[in-house]
Amino acid sequence: MNEFEFIARLREQASARKHSTRIVKGIGDDASTIREAANRDLIVTTDLLVEGVDFHRQATPPRLLGHKALAVSLSDIAAMGARPYWSFLSFGMPRDAWSGSFKDEFISGYFALADQFGVTLAGGDVSETKEGVVVDSIVLGEVESGAAVLRSGARVGDQIFVTGNLGGAAAGLKLIELGARVLMESEPGAIAIGPVVEDGQSKRTDDEAIQALLLRQLRPEPRVGWGIVLGEERLATSMIDLSDGLSSDLHHLCEESNVGAIIDAASLPLNDNVKQLCGRRALDPLALALHGGEDFELLFTVAPENVSRLPKRVDGVAISPIGEITELRDVQLKEKNRLWQLEPGGFEHFAGTGSHSAE
Ligand code: ADP
Ligand code: MG
Repeated sequence: MNEFEFIARLREQASARKHSTRIVKGIGDDASTIREAANRDLIVTTDLLVEGVDFHRQATPPRLLGHKALAVSLSDIAAMGARPYWSFLSFGMPRDAWSGSFKDEFISGYFALADQFGVTLAGGDVSETKEGVVVDSIVLGEVESGAAVLRSGARVGDQIFVTGNLGGAAAGLKLIELGARVLMESEPGAIAIGPVVEDGQSKRTDDEAIQALLLRQLRPEPRVGWGIVLGEERLATSMIDLSDGLSSDLHHLCEESNVGAIIDAASLPLNDNVKQLCGRRALDPLALALHGGEDFELLFTVAPENVSRLPKRVDGVAISPIGEITELRDVQLKEKNRLWQLEPGGFEHFAGTGSHSAE
């Protein structure tokens, strides 16, 4: 299949899905045209996934990579309190990935997640690389004018919340590095998700816990529903998605807001599967919850008078109060009766080269 046949098929697949919103022209022209709406702000995010840096092709089924490429961008849109509508997808691929089943499986995982949230693929680009797959995922969303939830809106006294649970994705990455692999069913494109692992359900084998953790890393669930509720109901004063890790991302939020924070270690929602496997595989649940990246949960702050307006769950996902915004411009961790300085310890590209750390 050549580039143009591939694009023609993408165009068919994208237009067969009838959830396009105000697309005047999507795939098939020099550029895409989207009709603007009055009193709305456009929110745009882009994420680059590079083979060998952001993912390992041998450990990542292409279908899950397609899912993840879109999921990380949807998570950014959610973190702005926005509703996602349109996406763009650019590929660089070496010949072996192009001629095998890689691109088709990638696209099927991508479209499956796009369908879940009614997002329309509106364009992209294709090129060849000498080595390694590169994917640029772009998502556009909207908020009511002025309603985007920024990192800079946290105020002293606001309560800090996090969606879902923490530490699972980093544990999944450690397991991949130890050689664990996600189980796939025999037919191409199908994924064995395994039994649904419910909170508080202890009848789970270690193999099931490992599979669930691998999927936490390889198949993140963006908190799109929570993002929309927190933005549209004007509940969050500030928000960020947890891509680098709680300690790093909370620092980013505090710096932008010119505030500090105190976090209560006992209130952190540790991933159940990490707790089950901890000790036996050197996975420390608290360290992973604090510093592990890629959980793609939402970290947000709420003014005290609005805490009672928060829904208990959105799309089946609960939230946990984990601390409070303080005046002292420092991030602290309360553990038992001691206070620790919480240094940012998450993932950083170019760490140690002086480009980020020398400030
Ligand atoms: P150009 O030469 O202007 O880059 P292309 O032939 O690459 O044009 O693209 C033609 C059309 O196909 C455009 O509408 C573009 O957005 C779309 N397209 C190309 N690659 C992709 C892709 N990976 N995903 C979605 N749409 C794509
Ligand atoms: Mg092109």
